[in-house]
Amino acid sequence: MPFFNLFVFFVEAVFYFTVMLTLLHFRRRLGLGVFLTALGVMHFLETYLAAVFYVELPFGTVSPGSSILFAGKLMLILLLYIKEDAETVRQPIYGLFLGNLMTVAIGLLLQFHAVDGVGPVKDAAFIKEMGWLMLWGTTLLYLDSVAIILLYERLGRFMPRRVVPRFLLSGIALLTFDQIAFFGMLHAFFDVPSSAFWSGWAGKMLAAFIYATIYFLYRHMRRAGEPYAATRPLADVFGDLTFRERYEDLLARSGRDTLTGVFDRARMEIDVPAMIRESLQSGEAISTVILDVDHFKSVNDRFGHLAGDEVLKALADLLRNAIRGEDRLYRFGGEEFVIMLPRLDHPQAMERAEHLRRLVASTLSTADRVAVTISCGVASGPEDGVNFAELISSADERLYTAKGEGRNRVCGQPSGSVADA
Ligand code: GH3
Ligand code: MG
Ligand code: MG
Repeated sequence: MPFFNLFVFFVEAVFYFTVMLTLLHFRRRLGLGVFLTALGVMHFLETYLAAVFYVELPFGTVSPGSSILFAGKLMLILLLYIKEDAETVRQPIYGLFLGNLMTVAIGLLLQFHAVDGVGPVKDAAFIKEMGWLMLWGTTLLYLDSVAIILLYERLGRFMPRRVVPRFLLSGIALLTFDQIAFFGMLHAFFDVPSSAFWSGWAGKMLAAFIYATIYFLYRHMRRAGEPYAATRPLADVFGDLTFRERYEDLLARSGRDTLTGVFDRARMEIDVPAMIRESLQSGEAISTVILDVDHFKSVNDRFGHLAGDEVLKALADLLRNAIRGEDRLYRFGGEEFVIMLPRLDHPQAMERAEHLRRLVASTLSTADRVAVTISCGVASGPEDGVNFAELISSADERLYTAKGEGRNRVCGQPSGSVADA
């Protein structure tokens, strides 16, 4: 029986989170109100179930209300923040907070109704109990929501691109905190046994793992990026968050080359030394490719400077799409680009450069259908250098070897052997 219950629990959690995530995903088409209203309606069911509905799972008794719906609500609030911003996420946080206070207030007012002896019995004690629990739960929910977002942000400093692990860790931490705080209240005022603490906690953890898995699958299914969310000014605790988001966005966008949109040389000089240091310190290889367009002057001479610009843009787009997520592409100057390849050793980097060289030669051409080609110099740390200056200068030297040997080729050796075109 407990195992069958576990199966139903699993189906409920997957169903709930998948539907909510779908509403969130289509928020631009449906309007965000659909997601938010559904969240609010499920909040009602959650509160009700947490008070009256408990089931037996293999690890103890849990309420699907708190395990599935409460844990889900908190993690969906975080997800809304991840996909939008602080300004949007404060809407359900404040809405749930104010709605809960209003529920408590109306619960108090309801008790003033005269009892006339006919009709269904009014359960005043239940309303009173619910009122206190709601008040405490409401305050906690508010703290939980703000804290889960702040924690997610803080984790971003240690694992910037690991969105799903951050999502899971923040969920685990805040659901644990919530369980301690909420259960403490239940234990103190309603004599709920402490075994219920552990089973309730386990139920929330299980839900958090299910949700993180669904989110992980969702992120892998979805390739297309979403339009950037607009931000407007704020004047409350969320103001700082939104301000910081905008600041980081500005930082991410600065240091870009205006012609090609890739990172510029100034940005390269800030990023790359640290990148090399980090790789080498953790014992990983890192490689640098410098590439230069062959006979680019003649493109300018024959078709004009503007056509030359278009070739550079097309080249940058092609390279940007061909590199891995962790690679970095910089415009070094003129028609020269630098690509940093973390965790690629020399043979692997040579292979990457050769792949890019072929790709350019087979894709780009000028108006008279003459192929645009590049020459590349490749150097890898630690064997060719342990800092930025050393790696760049050996890669640069090899670029000139490649030019000297006839262009449209990759050179990775100090002199001599060159991978032929
Ligand atoms: P090779 O590298 O194969 O030796 O020959 P090249 O003709 O490419 O020689 P070089 O690298 O010296 O020439 C670079 C040319 O790139 C000269 C310059 O006019 C042109 N250039 C630099 N920046 C830009 C730019 O932003 N737009 C355009 N259209 N041309 C640029
Ligand atoms: Mg050049
Ligand atoms: Mg050139």
